[in-house]
Amino acid sequence: MVQEYKLLIGGESIDSSTGETFDDINPATLENLATVQVAGIEDVNRAVSAAEAGFRVWSEVPAPGRADVLFRAARILQERKEDLAVLMTEEMGKVLPEARGDVQEAIDITNYAAGEGRRMFGDTTTSELKDKFCMTVLRPIGVVGMITPWNFPIAIPSWKIMPALIAGNAVVFKPSSDTPLLAIKLVEILMEAGLPPGVVNIVPGPGGCVGKAIVQHPRISAVSFTGSLDTGKWIMEECAKTMKRVSLELGGKNPVIVMDDADLELALEGVLWGAFGTTGQRCTATSRLILHEKIKDEFIRRLVAKTKYLRVGNGLLPETDIGPVINKAQLDKIEKYVRIGKEEGATLLLGGNRADPGLPGYFFEPTIFTDVRQEMRIAQEEIFGPVLSIITVSDLDEAIEVANNTKYGLSSAIYTENIGNAFRAIKKIEAGITYVNAPTIGAEVHLPFGGIKGTGNGFREAGTEAIKEFTEVKAVYIDYSGRLQKAQIDIE
Ligand code: NAP
Repeated sequence: MVQEYKLLIGGESIDSSTGETFDDINPATLENLATVQVAGIEDVNRAVSAAEAGFRVWSEVPAPGRADVLFRAARILQERKEDLAVLMTEEMGKVLPEARGDVQEAIDITNYAAGEGRRMFGDTTTSELKDKFCMTVLRPIGVVGMITPWNFPIAIPSWKIMPALIAGNAVVFKPSSDTPLLAIKLVEILMEAGLPPGVVNIVPGPGGCVGKAIVQHPRISAVSFTGSLDTGKWIMEECAKTMKRVSLELGGKNPVIVMDDADLELALEGVLWGAFGTTGQRCTATSRLILHEKIKDEFIRRLVAKTKYLRVGNGLLPETDIGPVINKAQLDKIEKYVRIGKEEGATLLLGGNRADPGLPGYFFEPTIFTDVRQEMRIAQEEIFGPVLSIITVSDLDEAIEVANNTKYGLSSAIYTENIGNAFRAIKKIEAGITYVNAPTIGAEVHLPFGGIKGTGNGFREAGTEAIKEFTEVKAVYIDYSGRLQKAQIDIE
């Protein structure tokens, strides 16, 4: 018997108005893990009303008191880390050590956000007038809509929810339809930790209906979205109609440059991990390898040899390096891009086919293309699977030009032993993140995370920047002179 999950609104588990359910499928085995009720527009309205009530209570709790709830949630997450990680591998396929990392990231951001409960600094500054005091304070935004993808099923929701909560907001949350269970577990943990009813409400269901209702809702003040560029663009346009704040974390086409002076063994490990970790399904995944021509042949030979050893299979098994991709649509998309790559004239060096580890799920071989030109679609479009495109260059300037020749700007990396090359890359690569002698994946929660160009609209998650995403800044002037003082006029 698979369990059926309801909506969580106003602190209660309630039936959805639609009477419909959807299945939560294990992408490795195609077993149904759970059925989940589909929220409808009426449920989004209920969730917004509950969030408004929750906001009235929560925004009055002093921030250190809000932090207490988050610290408790972090402890519960820690206690359940292994169970949550196993469930994650079952729900979306990533190998167990990576699933543990995903939960750890949630624990880290929860503790970090809780710590902000005793910071959230404003500024004090001077006034141009006598006996006048000036400062800024941070205020919560109100009810925030959150829409998340499936590739970090607990970390990404936590990156959004925890900073929003510490700042005093209430949340209406629509998780990906591929990973509703982890999202429900996260909200349950927050409630168990003592979050007042209505402060976080969860409405699973299709993006085109539930997500759309959140984006268009007149009483939701801000939307925080992580997902694809196309959905993000649509959300930005819609949010403009109701003047909502919208923060977008979108796709990537992340380059790693390997120079002729690099430690090749280190670079090999980094490229393997960046390209094929999480089956290439990270927004920061290495999808373009930009190789200096002098080391090209040797590097490719060693890369192919190492990639051949990667084992595709069920992420729960310790011998597995690469789990399944998330669903049939994603598998079809990867196959389509392999076809496109061949048609464009790139050389398929390795992989290119569905893999068969003896399970019925959605497996794909780690795939490497070489002789890729920068204008090819496989060098420009996000594939979101275990596919690496290799482009050869003759010097650093060309490498940086290739790295920047994309509509995205999320992560990037350079392997070099030359400090000048490293700093030139840091200065010139158009991306929100640059790693030196490390892969394109591996963000830490106390640094800002996000990208430029088609990857985002200027906000950053994690770090202290996350607080900015979920607060309004108010300027406060306190005049204790006892007389009318006119700024810009009564100056001596
Ligand atoms: P997606 O198809 O855009 O979906 C993301 C979320 O948006 C899901 O919850 C989806 O719901 C919902 N959605 C779909 N259409 C919608 C609409 N019209 N209105 C409102 N919500 C809608 O992306 P995905 O395939 O889940 O995730 C992969 C993408 O996320 C990649 O491009 C990846 O690079 C990006 N990503 C970016 C970051 C970052 O921080 N920059 C991090 C992780 C992932 P359903 O699930 O019901 O369709």
